Amino acid sequence: MTSPEELLKRHKAVMPGWISLYYDEPMEISHGEGFKVWDSEGNEYLDFFGGIVTTISGHNIPEIVEAVREQAGKVMHSSTLYLIENQVKLAEKLIELSPISGDQKVFFVSSGSEANEAALLFATQHRRSSEVLAMRGSYHGGSFGTMGITGQSTWRPTSRSALDVTYAMPPHHSYSSLYGRYEKDDPEFAKACADDLRNLIRTATTGHVAALIAEPVQGVGGFIELPPEYIRGVKEVLDETGILYISDEVQTAFGRTGSHFWGIEESGIEPDMITLAKGLGNGLAIGAVVGRAEIVDSMSGKLHLATFGGNHISTAGALANLNYILDNDLQKNADEVGGYLKDRLVNMAKESPLVGEVRGRGLMLALEMVGPDGEPNPAAAVRFLQACRERGVLVGKGGIGANAVRISPPLTITREAAEEAARAFEEALAVTGEAAK
Ligand code: PLP
Repeated sequence: MTSPEELLKRHKAVMPGWISLYYDEPMEISHGEGFKVWDSEGNEYLDFFGGIVTTISGHNIPEIVEAVREQAGKVMHSSTLYLIENQVKLAEKLIELSPISGDQKVFFVSSGSEANEAALLFATQHRRSSEVLAMRGSYHGGSFGTMGITGQSTWRPTSRSALDVTYAMPPHHSYSSLYGRYEKDDPEFAKACADDLRNLIRTATTGHVAALIAEPVQGVGGFIELPPEYIRGVKEVLDETGILYISDEVQTAFGRTGSHFWGIEESGIEPDMITLAKGLGNGLAIGAVVGRAEIVDSMSGKLHLATFGGNHISTAGALANLNYILDNDLQKNADEVGGYLKDRLVNMAKESPLVGEVRGRGLMLALEMVGPDGEPNPAAAVRFLQACRERGVLVGKGGIGANAVRISPPLTITREAAEEAARAFEEALAVTGEAAK
């Protein structure tokens, strides 16, 4: 067995230097079981980041493993040039569950970036415009087009894609600065947001915009919820001119947010397209666009395909995963255990000036680590991550100031596991506080 030190040395020699690894002493995960994982040195952890919000059903789930194994023994790949039964079944299931009404089509790809690329492609084809609205603080992927519209400069390259992006949305912490007197749940707030967006479209775009793309809860941005009334206000304005709404559900789908199956449902609006990946395959490389048929079909007359899109292996696994999520009502568990964990985190935060805010819903929860004047404290987030690791819990990091701790375990976690993690978080916070003195 190669030691982590040796593996790191070889990793550095052959992988790009900008690939970031967690922890001063990075680890290799060797195997997992449910919501637990083990590193290559035999240490056990509660996996409270789920491979970046991805292993939604957990590790080594027999139903999913068996579906993949069985399919691998038959045929792993043939391509979209041939019929694939599981692909059709998965598309039918996604349409049945989708928050969009009317005729729909599904296009399968291999990742979230590719799903967003495809949705943007369909929208720009359909609307004959390459102008897009995106949200400040957003993240939509690592491909050229998606990086070009991502609303965080740290994730954007200096070379830009052909899409022309304008940013909407008051950042989370500036409701008061941008909207003066409004609290975010003030009914007048939605109206103020709508007026602002109307003004933005009139003054900062040609007026003929293809689509707005938004995550219902910003993932990489640090689990920041877009207020439902804001989303409603935005949709009203888009409907005035036919601008399409793309809900990037790469992190928020399949019950992750607890209250609903899709993140966008909290607002009650109906998007034109949703994009999926991560939890769709529970770790298999699969993504999808589910959208109104007339929009997805706007590629008619052009040739377009994704070699791996919806292939035998990924659709067999994703179908088994989706059935597992539904059969075990994981959304309900996310709501219940997530609610309990959030209460614990809120209580913990009351005792500590290091946590500026606890936010999120379901099993998509974040701690905002701050300094004495409320400024982002990325060093505290790093220390907290390390202290959690030492106590057997893996969590993630994120946020525009790189100061958010992200907690997103598989939706199968039990209350006991949440309790155990909460105790580790309390200790980790105390240690982090000590180090800051
Ligand atoms: N959209 C959102 C909301 C994401 O969080 C991510 C990845 O973190 C992506 C898109 C890109 O997905 P992928 O990394 O699978 O390309």
